[in-house]
Amino acid sequence: MSLDERASLDRRVVVVGAGMAAARLADALADAGRHVTLLGDEPHPPYNRILLSAVLEGTHDPAALELGVRDTVDLRLGTRVVDIHREEREVELADRSRVGYDALVLATGAIPTLPPIRGLVRPDGRLHEKVHAFRSLADCERLDAAVGVSTGSTTAGSAVVVGGGLLGLQVARALSVRGLAVEVVEGGEHLLRSQVEERAGRIIARDLTRLGATVYTGARAVRLTEDGLVLDNGYTLETDLVVLTAGDRPSTALARRAGLEVRRGVVVDERLRTSDEHIYAIGDCAQRGGTVTGFVPPAWEQAAVLARHLAGEEASYDPGRHVVRLRATGLDVAVLGDPVHAEGEVVEVTNPVVGSHRRLVVDGGRIVAGTLVGDLSRIGLITQHFDRGTVLGANEPGLLLMPDRATAAAEPQLPDDAEVCSCAGVSAGAVRACASLDEVRATTRATTGCGGCSDAVRRLLDTRSTLLEGTPR
Ligand SMILES: Cc1cc2nc3c(=O)[nH]c(=O)nc-3n(C[C@H](O)[C@H](O)[C@H](O)COP(=O)(O)OP(=O)(O)OC[C@H]3O[C@@H](n4cnc5c(N)ncnc54)[C@H](O)[C@@H]3O)c2cc1C
Repeated sequence: MSLDERASLDRRVVVVGAGMAAARLADALADAGRHVTLLGDEPHPPYNRILLSAVLEGTHDPAALELGVRDTVDLRLGTRVVDIHREEREVELADRSRVGYDALVLATGAIPTLPPIRGLVRPDGRLHEKVHAFRSLADCERLDAAVGVSTGSTTAGSAVVVGGGLLGLQVARALSVRGLAVEVVEGGEHLLRSQVEERAGRIIARDLTRLGATVYTGARAVRLTEDGLVLDNGYTLETDLVVLTAGDRPSTALARRAGLEVRRGVVVDERLRTSDEHIYAIGDCAQRGGTVTGFVPPAWEQAAVLARHLAGEEASYDPGRHVVRLRATGLDVAVLGDPVHAEGEVVEVTNPVVGSHRRLVVDGGRIVAGTLVGDLSRIGLITQHFDRGTVLGANEPGLLLMPDRATAAAEPQLPDDAEVCSCAGVSAGAVRACASLDEVRATTRATTGCGGCSDAVRRLLDTRSTLLEGTPR
């Protein structure tokens, strides 16, 4: 750490963006007694973006998404940063006022991109009224209102979701649950193609179809007309709504204008520092070693590493090992690491009849990547081996994949140091130390990220109360 950097430790930390990464960083800095300013252009306090599909589905109220920010954080909402003046170490806001910083953090997230489909944009530059993005609460509210209108008629409405990635599947499920006839159009040969290999993608498509949606893979939407959305194979899908979920890209305009090194994302080193030693980047806007992430667990890990670094501790970010869970009603998917590109021996068990597929990539006895579809009953144990790099015996990977739901109860009890929530880095022991789900949420933040740990947390709390009931008083 340079002298200049060390000198900035006690001074002003300013964060551009008040999203999921910024909220986590602010929390950690506030815990350490540091003052931090968040400048966010949305009108809402930081919220859990993952649960937007739950709001659309109707199971969550928008207020339930709030992540909560400590009173000591200087949170300025509706505040857009338009420029960074690096020489003066100031950011300029849309109203032309300026805010000085000693350490600046870019946490600007990602922005939806418009796919090359003719007719999405009206001649006056506005989106066609049927067309929706899905990134923010504002997008969600607009889509929710349109769903209300389309399902208010005598027949249920219809929607085409363009893009069969994580976001597309969440939106498709939410709209199906709302009673719309949903079609998913994915240009690649299978769903979730950035995260999983073909066989898993096909099983997910079957699950989605079983749940009522229609899936078209290997088909591209090319034009929106009055008749509907035209595909490159000649089909026209009549529809009330078109939701674009294909391709968010890192929001880098501010960094680029300021002359920072930007490739796909804002380039950072292992301490999350950009090409300017006073400016850092975390979350969806950052690129570390060729990788932009786009998920909560790495964004929150980056926030934690940066908080430690800004507190003067040695800390570095390793982009390797993350577990991502899909939050969509009726679809259970977990991805460990990068199963599409990982190299090693493949151990897999597929049961298309029940729609389950479990696949581990093992290198030198260690699990280096994995895909679990349909049955996540052993996710806790598998994640534990993945995180720790446990060297497994020749039969162990296969055994890990064998049990079905019926035998889930036989899963050995997780040790206290096993990580249960990869978003917030919470161990089984920390959960067991809590008396209720509310206490878990308030003290550890487990279940407030992707929500994928909810079942494991509930099981740990259940086991705890069973044990306590059995304890002599
Ligand atoms: C619908 C949806 C579902 C998702 N589901 C999952 C999931 O299941 N699992 C998972 O791991 N991840 C999921 N993600 C991704 C996850 O939400 C992101 O990885 C996470 O939000 C990244 O946090 P961030 O702070 O980098 O960006 P964001 O949370 O996007 O926050 C960035 C903020 O910065 C603001 N901003 C940008 N530019 C400026 C500026 N110039 N001035 C002021 N403010 C600015 C933006 O408006 C935004 O509020 C999902 C995302 C969406 C949209």
